[in-house]
Amino acid sequence: MKLLKQKILNEGKVLSDTVLKVDSFLNHQVDPQLMLNIGETFTNLFSSEGITKILTLESSGIAPSTMAGLKLRVPVIFARKRKSLTLVDDLYSANIYSFTKKETNEISVSKDYISSNDTVLIIDDFLANGQAALGLLDIVEQAGASLAGFGIVIEKGFQNGGNLLRERGIRVESLANIASLSNGKVTFK
Ligand code: 5GP
Repeated sequence: MKLLKQKILNEGKVLSDTVLKVDSFLNHQVDPQLMLNIGETFTNLFSSEGITKILTLESSGIAPSTMAGLKLRVPVIFARKRKSLTLVDDLYSANIYSFTKKETNEISVSKDYISSNDTVLIIDDFLANGQAALGLLDIVEQAGASLAGFGIVIEKGFQNGGNLLRERGIRVESLANIASLSNGKVTFK
């Protein structure tokens, strides 16, 4: 997606050979018009899949997912990372290991919102090593729902997450796929 790639080149900050900071439009401040364009692009890619729900992870997946949900006219569910006072029982849960933070976090979704009747599109902000994606996939499988695929805003194609999913035959659509962050420079695939 040309507009997104331009935004990454103009505003993204390469923090290291593996980490890209995009706080100005996705991870802290949000660019609503860009999010709408992203939502429309995911809608065009997945419109024939009979999607009934979008599943994402709080907090940075929520903005692009909401715009896709608006266009696909389906509800958006965000998996919670923190224990909630009101989210107490009847949960699907999965563990996600973060290579960057070197810690495991539990994510949860209420059983009220995904069932075996659903066809789910999973959306996330970044795909790196794929641990968040596998956790979300685990929740879809626990619900017995069908998976339409993954819509990823930024894939870091030099890390292994994309391979892990695609070698399982899962459809992964990334709107920007980064080949390298070497020498402080973003190079797209
Ligand atoms: P994974 O589980 O695929 O290794 O990492 C996925 C999660 O880690 C994403 O949802 C995102 O929140 C975070 N993440 C991984 N790499 C980056 C990065 O280069 N920049 C930012 N901003 N977040 C990242």
